[in-house]
Amino acid sequence: MKILGFIIKKKKYRGHYCWVCQSVLPNEKFSGQAHSNHICKKCSKLSKEELAKISDERFIYDVFFQKNISIENLYRIEKISKKYIGELGEQATVILKVAKLHPLKKKRLGFLYFKHKELFDELVRFGIIDDLITHRIQDEIEYEKIIELQEIEIKRKQQKYDIDLIGVDEYSDDLPL
Ligand SMILES: [Zn+2]
Repeated sequence: MKILGFIIKKKKYRGHYCWVCQSVLPNEKFSGQAHSNHICKKCSKLSKEELAKISDERFIYDVFFQKNISIENLYRIEKISKKYIGELGEQATVILKVAKLHPLKKKRLGFLYFKHKELFDELVRFGIIDDLITHRIQDEIEYEKIIELQEIEIKRKQQKYDIDLIGVDEYSDDLPL
């Protein structure tokens, strides 16, 4: 391929990508059937249900980072939320609520944090997002406390200084010249 005079070589992989273990593996790690499914020999030993679950788990995670969650994806999330009992089902339920409330990725985290903290906390609990916002806010509060303490300390010193000055003034009359 030639773009702007540069020759861009297509990246060569010495193997194939297995979507299950998410790794590029050499040809011999794939068998005929599994090859066309993009699943390596090892992963193709998993049952259909196990593979479906891995795919659903990935989907739930990936969909959260899509720019805009589409109606089709909303349906799939709903299906997943009903299909699984346990953590995956719970995760899907939370993502479904999020997708309905705020399908756009932009400004979603702030919206959740301030308007639906319970959903935000759930996303953190499931490891879908890192809780950076709370730390930042806590840092700010801590910082403000430090500033406040410093100001109190400065005022206290100032007052002490004023008192000292008054004291010196009062004494100065008695001081021998
Ligand atoms: Zn694999």
